Amino acid sequence: MGECKNLVIMCMDYRFQSVTHLWLKQRGLSEQYDVISAAGSSLNLLDDNEQRTFILNQIDLAINKHGIERIIILHHEDCAALGNISMNTDEQINYHYKKTAQAEKIILTHYPDVKVEKFFVTLKGDFLCLAGKK
Ligand SMILES: [Zn+2]
Repeated sequence: MGECKNLVIMCMDYRFQSVTHLWLKQRGLSEQYDVISAAGSSLNLLDDNEQRTFILNQIDLAINKHGIERIIILHHEDCAALGNISMNTDEQINYHYKKTAQAEKIILTHYPDVKVEKFFVTLKGDFLCLAGKK
């Protein structure tokens, strides 16, 4: 098996595919990342149910077969996986800051050596780092 150091966990939403792959390319990661794409991205890890199991199995495969060292979690503005909750952009950023922090904790319980990065993608295509915010 080949080596691939990065795993991207992102939403299935069509509006964020091109911009995300472009962003990854600009970071010098072309063809150096696995992708787990599911509605709600890492929100699927937060409840102890079959969605969590599914995502963890995918992460496990990527780490063990490809040697993943970094997981990049992307959440985005106006995510349909949240249902009909109405929040402005700042409220959404706060919400996803908290949720991605919880997801990171769960990942690190299983894979303490992996590095986790978290970003919020706006509809305009800006990638806001969610580390160190409140
Ligand atoms: Zn979404």
